[in-house]
Amino acid sequence: MEKICVAVRVRPPTPESSSSENGSSLWKVEDNRISLHKSLDTPISTASYAFDHVFDERSTNACVYELLTKDIIHAAVEGFNGTAFAYGQTSSGKTFTMTGFETDPGIIRRSVRDVFERIQMISDREFLIRVSYMEIYNEEINDLLAVENQRLQIHEHLERGVFVAGLKEEIVSDAEQILKLLDSGEVNRHFGETNMNVHSSRSHTIFRMVIESRGKENSSTDAIRVSVLNLVDLAGSERIAKTGAGGVRLTEGKYINKSLMILGNVINKLSESSKLRAHIPYRDSKLTRILQPALGGNAKTCIICTIAPEEHHIEESKGTLQFASRAKRITNCAQINEILTDAALLKRQKLEIEELQMKLQGSHAEVLEQEILKLSNQMLKYELECERLKTQLEEERGKQKEQEQLQFTPAIKRQPTPLTAATTECSHENQKEVEDLKSQIELLTNEKDSLQVKFNEQVFQNNKLMGEISELKEGMLHMKEIPKRLSESVANGKEVYKNVIVTMKTLMAEKEFPTAKLLFGVTGITTSLLSTLESQFSMILDGQKAGSIVDYPFYDQWETLRVSLKNTASSLVSDAQAMNEILNSHDKGQETAAMEEKLKSELSILAERYNELEKELSLDKQLLKASRESHGRLEKEVQFLKEERDSLDVAISQSTQRLRVIASDKENALKDLNVEVKRRKEMEEEIKQISFAFSSRQKSLMSFHNEIKSKMQKLTTQNPKLK
Ligand code: ADP
Ligand code: MG
Repeated sequence: MEKICVAVRVRPPTPESSSSENGSSLWKVEDNRISLHKSLDTPISTASYAFDHVFDERSTNACVYELLTKDIIHAAVEGFNGTAFAYGQTSSGKTFTMTGFETDPGIIRRSVRDVFERIQMISDREFLIRVSYMEIYNEEINDLLAVENQRLQIHEHLERGVFVAGLKEEIVSDAEQILKLLDSGEVNRHFGETNMNVHSSRSHTIFRMVIESRGKENSSTDAIRVSVLNLVDLAGSERIAKTGAGGVRLTEGKYINKSLMILGNVINKLSESSKLRAHIPYRDSKLTRILQPALGGNAKTCIICTIAPEEHHIEESKGTLQFASRAKRITNCAQINEILTDAALLKRQKLEIEELQMKLQGSHAEVLEQEILKLSNQMLKYELECERLKTQLEEERGKQKEQEQLQFTPAIKRQPTPLTAATTECSHENQKEVEDLKSQIELLTNEKDSLQVKFNEQVFQNNKLMGEISELKEGMLHMKEIPKRLSESVANGKEVYKNVIVTMKTLMAEKEFPTAKLLFGVTGITTSLLSTLESQFSMILDGQKAGSIVDYPFYDQWETLRVSLKNTASSLVSDAQAMNEILNSHDKGQETAAMEEKLKSELSILAERYNELEKELSLDKQLLKASRESHGRLEKEVQFLKEERDSLDVAISQSTQRLRVIASDKENALKDLNVEVKRRKEMEEEIKQISFAFSSRQKSLMSFHNEIKSKMQKLTTQNPKLK
C-alpha cells in the first residue's frame, strides 16, 4: 500500500500581473510546504499545506520530472501501472508541465525518452510498446491518432478490464516515433477549432503507453508483464461561476465540471478511511472510468497541482490545494502486473489455442484445402493453356514455311491451306489475329492464282505471235532473194546482148549496112538499160545488207526502178517501130531479111523478159505492202504484250510486297505468342512458389500448433486447475 504522490507547482507571475501587484508573491514555498501570506508578510495559519513536493516559480520541468515522475516511469518499465496528472485552473501551467517546450520538454516527452533509455539498459528482457492518445471533450472520447475515430465507447472485459473500443494503438520502436505521433495528435486535436485555448482548457487529454515485456531466456516459462502508463493533462478546474457565461459555454463548463467533479468525488471517497468508504463512483464519468486503476487501485500515481500566483486567482488556488490535500490521503496498491495478468494471459492463450485448433481442424482447414485445390486447378489450367499455345505455335511455324516456299516458287499452283480447328481454342485475342492473317493469306493466294492464270494466257499468246513473226521473217527472206534472182536474169540478158553486139560488129565489118547501124543504136540503148538495171539491183542488194526489212527508202528504190524500167521499155518499143519503118522503105536483101528476123525474135524475147520482170516487181511490191502491214500489226501486238507484261510485273511485285508484310506480321504475332507463353510460364513458376510458401506456412502453423499443444499439456500437468 502506498499513498499517491502529490506535488504543487507555482508558475511564475505573468509580466503584467507582477508589475501591477508589485512583484510580491502571495504564496511562499519552503521545502515541501506552501503557505499563503498576506501582503504584509504575515502567514495565514489556515492556509498552509504540505505535500510530497512543492515547486516554486523557478523550478524547471527537468526538476519536476526528476523528483516526481521518474520513479513512476521506471516502475512502469518494470511492470507497474503508472499515472501522472496535472490538475489546476486554466493558465496555471498544466500544459507547460505535461508537454512543455522544445527547450524545456515536459513530463510526457521526458517520460517517452526515459522509457526507451531504460529499456536499452535492461538486457535480459524484450519489450513491446504501443501508444494511444485520446481526448475527452464534452464527455465524448475522440482518438487523437486517427481523426476518423470519434465518440468512442468504453467497454469492460473480464480479463482486459476497462478499455476504449476502437482506439488506435500504434506499436512503436523508438522515442522519436512517439514524439512525431504526439505532434500529429496535437494537430488533430485542434482540427476545425476556431479557438484553440477555449478547446484546450475544456478538454482532458490522455496519452497512454502500454509496455509489454518478457524475459529473453526461458521465455516459454517466464510470464509476460503488461503495464499501462497514463499521462494526463486535465481540463481547467475553475468553477462554472467563474466562466461567467451561459449557453453553449455554460454547457461545456458543466461537462468539464462533471468529469472533474466526479474526479473530486472519487478522490473524496478514496481519501476517507476505508471504514467509511462506500461506493466509489468511478463509472459516473469517462475520465474516472478510464483512470480507475490509477485511483485507489493497482497503480503508482502522482498528481501535480499547478497554481497561478496572482491575487485574483487565490480562491481557485485554494481549491486546487484542497483537492491536492485530499488526493494526498489516497492509498494505492501497486503490483507488478505479471501475476494477475499472467492468469488472464494464460486464459487468453488457452482460448486462442482452442480457436486455432478449431480453425485447423474445422472450417479453416477446409478453407485451406479448398485454396490449395483452387491453386492446383489453376495450375492445371495454365498447363493446358501452355500446351495449346505450343501446338498452335508449331502449326503457325509450319504454315509460315509453306508460305515462304510459295513466295519463291510462284509457278506452282497452290491451294490455300485450310487452317486447323486447334486455333479456335486459343485466347480470344490471338485467335482473332490468327483469323485475320488467315483470311489475308487466302485472299492473296486467290489473287496470286488469278494473276498466274493471266500470265499463262499471255505466255501462250506471246508464243503464238512469235511463231507468226518467224513465219513472216521467212517470207521476208524469200523476198530478199527476188532482187538477186532478177539481177541474175539481167546478167543473162546482158550476156545475150554482148553476143548480139559481137555478131553485129562482124556484119558491119563485112558490109556497110544502114540497118546494122540502126541495130547497133538499138543494142546500145538496150545495153544502157541493162546497165541501169544492174546498178539499181546492186543498190537494192547493198541496202538489204545494211538496213532492216522495213527500210522505207528500199521500198522507194523499187518504185523508181519500176518507173525507169517502164520509161526505157516504152522508148525502146518506139525506137523499134521507127526502125521497122526505115527497114520497110529500104530494099531487102536475103541476108538482111534473115538478120531482121533474128533481131525481131531477140527483141520479142527481151520484151517478154521485161514483162516478166515488171510482173515480178509488182508482185514484190504487193508482198512488201502486206508484210509492212503485218509488221505494223505485229509491232502493235508486241507493244501491247510489253505493257501487259509490265503491269503483271507490277502486280506480282505488289503481291510479293504484301506477302512480305504479312510474313513480318506473322513473325510479330509469333513473337507475341512466345512472350505470352513465357509470361504464363513465369506465372506458373509464381504459382508454384506461392503454393510452396503456402505449404511451408501450413507446416509452420502445424508445428506452432504442436508446440502450443505441448506447452498446454505441460502447463496443465503443472497446474491441474486450468483444465
Ligand atoms: P494551462 O495548461 O494550465 O492552461 P499553460 O501551461 O498553458 O496553462 O500556461 C499558461 C501560460 O503560463 C503559458 O504561456 C505558459 O508558458 C506559462 N507558464 C506556465 N507555467 C510556467 C512555468 N513554470 N514557467 C514559465 N512559464 C510558465
Ligand atoms: Mg493547457
